[in-house]
Amino acid sequence: MTTVFTNGAVFTGSAHAPVSEAMAIRDGRVLSVGSREAVRSTVDDSAAEVDVNGALIAPGFVEAHTHMVMLGQTLDKVQLRDCRSLEEIQERLRLRREEQPDAAFILGAGWMFEAIPGGRPTASMIDAVIADIPVLLDSNDVHSAWVNTVAMNAMGIGAETPNPPGGQIVRDTVGDATGLLLESAAIEYAWSYLEAIATDDDRDRFLDSAFRVYLENGVTAATDMAIGEAEAAAFRRRLDRDGHLPFPVAGYWLLRPTGDSARDLESVARAAEMRDQFAAGPGSDWFRIVGVKFILDGVIDACTAAMREPYVDGSQAEPIWSFESAAPVATAADARELELAMHAIGDHASEIALRLVEECGRINGPRPRATRIEHLESVTDSTIARMAALGVTASIQPVHCDPAIMANWMGVLGDERGETGFPWRLMRESGVRMALGTDAPTAPHITSHNLFIALTTRSALAPGDESYHPERAFSPGQALEALTLGAASAGRFEDGIGRIVPGGRANFTVIDVNPFSDDYQKLLDAHTLSTFVDGEPVFANEDAVSE
Ligand SMILES: [Zn+2]
Repeated sequence: MTTVFTNGAVFTGSAHAPVSEAMAIRDGRVLSVGSREAVRSTVDDSAAEVDVNGALIAPGFVEAHTHMVMLGQTLDKVQLRDCRSLEEIQERLRLRREEQPDAAFILGAGWMFEAIPGGRPTASMIDAVIADIPVLLDSNDVHSAWVNTVAMNAMGIGAETPNPPGGQIVRDTVGDATGLLLESAAIEYAWSYLEAIATDDDRDRFLDSAFRVYLENGVTAATDMAIGEAEAAAFRRRLDRDGHLPFPVAGYWLLRPTGDSARDLESVARAAEMRDQFAAGPGSDWFRIVGVKFILDGVIDACTAAMREPYVDGSQAEPIWSFESAAPVATAADARELELAMHAIGDHASEIALRLVEECGRINGPRPRATRIEHLESVTDSTIARMAALGVTASIQPVHCDPAIMANWMGVLGDERGETGFPWRLMRESGVRMALGTDAPTAPHITSHNLFIALTTRSALAPGDESYHPERAFSPGQALEALTLGAASAGRFEDGIGRIVPGGRANFTVIDVNPFSDDYQKLLDAHTLSTFVDGEPVFANEDAVSE
């Protein structure tokens, strides 16, 4: 069956290509793209024709950085992102408890440090509304967990519990844990506890939810940045059940620093083993382990990102991985052709990341690598120049610099660094490869909002707020390329994913706002009209009525 889509704005994946008007698909592949006449000349009279009425047709978006199981889990959580005070947070928790009187635990997500007096959440603030069952609340950036006393007890956290490497159990003046877990302390205790209480059925449901909301947002490929045993097993079950996924996923195996090089190397071996198992098994086109993920530092909001110069409060966080601790692990992964993805938010952490890239080349010699650095919120000009020279991809999340969530970010830096964050323009002008994603659930997964911020540098959460350095904004072609082809290259997707190209997989989406001609403001209320994977409609918006 052949279908021609006409009267659209067809973006093919490259910022340089002019936008076309029509495309044809046949047997799950793109047949042709161009003007209506040119496309019609490639099909016979029996081809069906769909008039998209001026809508944007784009390659399916490639989410460059996500955590799918966590996203699905977050969709179920009490949403706290828009709470501006402790009282609002407490009220939401109280309401959820009323709705779910039999709940065994309550989870929340998205709280902001700014909403809490002194930016110091404590267990007793939650105990005041829920004291009888565990409550775990992820911060806005998911790098901190705020828990109540029952949860601390269930996780076995007491005055004697040591801080894990790269993390902190925040304590009061007498040394008791306050209920706030930072960085790897959140991962080691809160995430592990959640992993233990979530069942396989729960995780299967979470994965289903994540796939569903992504298809609703026109996403037809994703890179999952924190695959561990539980996540890999969830993808395996889905592949065993269906033989495929709703769309292809590339995974990075999360390396958690143990402080013991031999154990760190075991994690690399495990990543390679899982890569090979998925590659040999059924559904290998749909799920691949591409590489390993290092979380080199924390986040600026909690003053845990590794900066070259101290924060305004005088503190200066150590990186989670030093160059010395990471180098043997990174070169071992690289020797097994596992690609490196490195979370580096502070300007010191991205320097470590580049030293690791150079070390891999020095030890293992040249090979075509797909190295990437995630986030790059405060980064020096010289690091950007070296990234371009080394061919390292910048994996960027516009939703992380929504002006509505930047007051604390700018405040803790407190100097010119607060005004030079997220330097997208210099990255583009320096020739750094760019991939855009959302890092959901650390930020909203809504593609059109992410695109809005990339194009305007304004807030999708509070559209009245002032923009943050508008000179950094992307053009529509640049942003859409980084959301499709750029993200596809970064995740080593092939077979036409991230492009609309004759012969490639017909994975694409139709959206009722065309940023090449419409006011960008319309993106805040954009609708995905339909999403196709391999030429099959996998999402259709029942509510959207074409005018
Ligand atoms: Zn992430």
